[in-house]
Amino acid sequence: MTHRKPKPKPRPRAVSRRDAMVCASSGLIATAFGVVAGFGGSPDSGPGPGPGPMEPWAEGGSGPAPAEAASVPAQPWMPDATLRPLSVNFTPGGLREVRGLVLHVQEGENSLHDRFSDPAVRSSAHFWVSQSGEIEQYVSAHDRAWAQGTGNPSWLSVETSGFASRPLTAQQVDSVARIYAWGMAQHGWPLAPAPTPLGRGLGIHSMGGRAWGGHACPGPLRSAQTGEILTAARGRHPR
Ligand SMILES: [Zn+2]
Repeated sequence: MTHRKPKPKPRPRAVSRRDAMVCASSGLIATAFGVVAGFGGSPDSGPGPGPGPMEPWAEGGSGPAPAEAASVPAQPWMPDATLRPLSVNFTPGGLREVRGLVLHVQEGENSLHDRFSDPAVRSSAHFWVSQSGEIEQYVSAHDRAWAQGTGNPSWLSVETSGFASRPLTAQQVDSVARIYAWGMAQHGWPLAPAPTPLGRGLGIHSMGGRAWGGHACPGPLRSAQTGEILTAARGRHPR
């Protein structure tokens, strides 16, 4: 993640507050320029950006074309998860492919179901994992959640409770691994980190750069745990 970029003023659109508010739950971690606003919370919290198009960044079709269309997942809902379907803040049938799972940090605690049910928030994630390892699923794996900008049509997403200043708990690592192992079976995800938005595997929000909102999410501590998650997923994935 980039703490500071000297380029003062790119194009005006990039600076809109709407763009800066992305990361499903908070959007506070960094601005569209990658300037770190502080992991421990920020005055820029608040429910949402106000009026705007359905999903400010994702519907333009400007994202890179998928190299291949992965199959639509066989299971829309993960059997292990507590199902809490949203009625707003997602695009039904909006996945072009499923390249992998993107890890996010909530910058807060407690279920995100109520927040994601607020139409003004205009964001969501497929999954949420509590610090004790409970998994809630909000959006079907056949539908597009609004979690990471132009990556939305191609990736599933998981929010993890807590703060970027603290690592995932062991229970969270295990639960994200359960989701990932499920995705390996359902979508053929490789047991590997996804280095870029064009890759496949376990990714992190910040890898998408500005096209994904310019966020530092999930921060260095949690990003460094992707290896741990994949190791745990290996044990859970039936060979
Ligand atoms: Zn995020």
